[in-house]
This record gives sequence, structure tokens and C-alpha cells, in this order.
Amino acid sequence: KPRLYSGMQPSAESLQIGNYIGALLNWKSLQETHDAFFSIVDLHAITVAQDPAKLRENTRRTAAQYIASGIDPDASTLYVQSHVAAHAQLAWVLNTITGFGEASRMTQFKDKSAKQGSDGTTVGLFAYPILMAADILLYDTVVVPVGEDQRQHVELTRDIAARFNTRFGDTFVVPEASIQKETAKIYDLQNPLSKMSKSAESHAGVIWVLDEPSVTAKKIMRAVTDADGGVVFDRENKPGVANLLTIYSTMAGRTVQSLEDEYAGRGYGDLKKGLAEVVTGTFGPIRARVIELLDDPAELDRLLAVNAARAASVADATLARAYDRVGLLPPR
Ligand code: ATP
Ligand code: MG
Repeated sequence: KPRLYSGMQPSAESLQIGNYIGALLNWKSLQETHDAFFSIVDLHAITVAQDPAKLRENTRRTAAQYIASGIDPDASTLYVQSHVAAHAQLAWVLNTITGFGEASRMTQFKDKSAKQGSDGTTVGLFAYPILMAADILLYDTVVVPVGEDQRQHVELTRDIAARFNTRFGDTFVVPEASIQKETAKIYDLQNPLSKMSKSAESHAGVIWVLDEPSVTAKKIMRAVTDADGGVVFDRENKPGVANLLTIYSTMAGRTVQSLEDEYAGRGYGDLKKGLAEVVTGTFGPIRARVIELLDDPAELDRLLAVNAARAASVADATLARAYDRVGLLPPR
């Protein structure tokens, strides 16, 4: 089976619906046909300030949300990034073959550093995409299923891998991003021009997987739309409604066309009510399962340990290959 790698940051208590639609839904189907590695990337999360106790807790919670959403920890390798030392080790080597200008062109760095201010912007945040390249390359990954916001980072990974191979001889598999076109980017309900994010300053427009159903429904009912009134998919002129239709269609497994037909001549209120039902209907059972899993943290930790050992056995071999190629003297 072809290798697949993807991950999410434990940067909040809950995942948001963009993570679910843009990543988890695809992971779930791809794990059947791929040798899949799904990581909880805590080393990425600390590129912006995290509360240590919360980070630990959010790491377990993220693992529980993977499992509750349908990732099978027996069939796939579901592990915590910092449990496999090779990630940080390979990242250092890749840092040394990445151009400063090349890394400076990453738009996510520009966005996140603008929010952090110059004192909050760390070298770690700048180096984040290079750590991500290490994540992917350690597993001889062929497929990287991510949302649109990660496309540039996967492109950088390809460039770094190809450069390393040219300079030091064939070492890494050059991976491909796998991005689901229609659902690749879910927008904030209060600001339908900006990406929904776990680390958004305001939570008013973020749908959390683990929110109470009544909270989710309220947020959807308050979503920004427009004065036009028609339930029509028009990303350019009606970004709010287009976003609601995208979420609705993927969560319900229906075409946008069938939703436009159903809600033709009815108001946005009806559309939002229908959407709220579908979202809470999907997230309700996931939430219940997460609560169950978190009730037995020892069992969850045991599962993560077994999976980390499996990941390390692959990653350590790749790291040894890379160290050897660049001329690091092996210890005896
Ligand atoms: P943070 O704000 O901490 O960066 P995030 O919500 O952007 O959190 P990540 O952990 O960075 O989430 O990304 C996890 C996965 O979810 C990635 O594959 C990313 O492409 C995808 N993703 C994140 N936000 C969206 C979104 N709004 N629409 C679709 N996919 C998304
Ligand atoms: Mg992100």
C-alpha cells in the first residue's frame, strides 16, 4: 500500500469543522487504501505560545478526536510527533539545505507572524514548514492529504526532497499533496473571507467538533450571510452562503445543486436550521465517543505508545540514511 502522512496541531481543546471536512473525512477513506501515518503534531503547536498543562491535555483530546472520527489506530499509525525523536533531528538537517528567502515566502508564516507581533514571532514559527517537510519525508510518504492552506508547505517539501536527492544521492521519496477541491477551505462563519482556524482570535465564527449542540446551532444561526436572500452558490458575491452550502453538502453527503433546489424560495433561516441539524447530528456521536475515550487516559496513552514505536521503526531508518548521506560520522 502507498504511504500516506498527515497531522494536526493540538492547538485547541477541540478540532474545528474545517479540520474535519478538509482533512479528517479524507483521512478516513484514504486509510483503507494506504499505509497511513496520522500524527498529532505537538512540536508544531509550540511554535506559538501554549500553556504546558493545556498542551498535554489537548494532545490527548486531539488523539481521541481522531479515533472518534473514525481513524483506526490498529490499521493506521496514530501517534504523537514528539514521541518520535527523528522528527526534530531530520528537521535540523533540512534546515541546513533550505534557503532563508525560500522559507520567507511562506504565506502562513506571514499571516501568523503578523498576528504574533515581532516579539511573539519565533524562529520556530519561521522553521515550521521545514519541520513539516521532515515529518513527511521520514515516512517515504507518497500522499499528503491536507487542506488548501498547506499546499505551499507540501510544495516546499517537494523542493527540499528533490534538492537533497540531487546533492546527496537518492534518499527521499518526493511526495504529492492530495487536496479535495471543493472542500479544501472552510471559512470563518463571522468572516467568510478568512480561513476557519483553531487559533482564531475570536471563536464566534468557529464550529468546534466538541461544542454542545445548542452552542453549535446558535453559531450557525448567527453566521454572516448577505442582503440578497437567495440560496445560491456564488463564492464571489455571496461568500457567506457559499461557505454554508459547502459545509452542508459535505456533512450531508449531498450535492450543492440539490441543496439549492431544496431551499429555493426559502430564507437563510431555513438553510441554517437544516445545516445545524446535520452538523450536530454528525458531531453528537463523535463527542460522546471522545468523552468515553478521555475517561480512560491510561488506555489512550498505551495506544499512543504502541503506535509511536511503530512510527519510530520507520522514521529512525530514514533518519539514519539521511545522516549517512550528509556525512555525519555514525556513533559506535
Ligand atoms: P491553527 O490555527 O492552530 O493553525 P488549524 O485549524 O489551521 O489550526 P492545523 O492543525 O494547522 O489546523 O491543520 C490541520 C489540518 O486541517 C490541515 O490538513 C489543514 O490543511 C486542515 N485545515 C485547517 N483549517 C482548515 C479549513 N478552514 N478548511 C479546510 N481545511 C483546513
Ligand atoms: Mg493551521
